[in-house]
Amino acid sequence: MEDKKEKQKKASNNIKLIKDGYITVIAGPCAIESWDQLDAIAKVVKDLGLSFLRGGAYKPRTSPYSFQGLKEEGLKYLKEINAKYGLMTVTEITDTEHVDIVADSVDVLQIGTRNMSNFSLLEKVGRVANERNKKVILKRGWASSIKEWLLAVEYITSRGNTEVVLCERGIRTFETDTRFTLDLSAVPVIKKLSKLPIIIDPSHAVGQSDLVIPMSRAAVAVGADGLIVEAHHNPSKALCDGQQSLNVKELIELIRQLKNVAGVIGKKIR
Ligand code: PEP
Ligand code: MN
Repeated sequence: MEDKKEKQKKASNNIKLIKDGYITVIAGPCAIESWDQLDAIAKVVKDLGLSFLRGGAYKPRTSPYSFQGLKEEGLKYLKEINAKYGLMTVTEITDTEHVDIVADSVDVLQIGTRNMSNFSLLEKVGRVANERNKKVILKRGWASSIKEWLLAVEYITSRGNTEVVLCERGIRTFETDTRFTLDLSAVPVIKKLSKLPIIIDPSHAVGQSDLVIPMSRAAVAVGADGLIVEAHHNPSKALCDGQQSLNVKELIELIRQLKNVAGVIGKKIR
């Protein structure tokens, strides 16, 4: 007989990342730092009525001297959090060698900006996600055009019927007052050129927490299907991207404001 956990897991595989009439908000820490840290923010995410928790296990840091993530230990915590709260989990895959273990541990496989053009990784993620009914988020390379991004995503979509979602996370421009420049016009352009859903990552784009709420409101207004936002129970102590992470109060405020903006266009937050 199929045990309860197995059944729960199968049911969770059927929860779509993007749903008509809803804005999906994925929230959680940049990096998983400990069980207690992940549990603290997961509880907030659950209490807010959201369904998807993010958390990096393998961290592709610009500096090799920065915290690189808890790796397999982090994946174990994501699995345990899924069992505890029923939250769908999202984590980044940085290497073809990790695809199987990550697919064993989470519901949504994220490909980061640094790997958008890592075609062997895209192909393997596409194949494994299709075989194992996983969802995929493909972030835009920070120096990639929309056309290059739409070609890259075909390395995944051509491998099967996986649910694939594009994520705009900011591109490099001459501007230095924000970490990257959030290209919100990518949303209506993608809507014109592709059938794939698109979500916005305001956190990595702006790089500072006080700009995350205004850009999130704009993302909903421009027609994005969802958001992925960094949140931490104690950002000043975060091992990664604390400066751009919302604290608990700010995350609650974000959801309050997004419900209002989404209401105007006849959508709900999930
Ligand atoms: C992340 O989401 O943790 C991340 C590293 O984002 P990006 O690939 O957009 O830099
Ligand atoms: Mn981050």
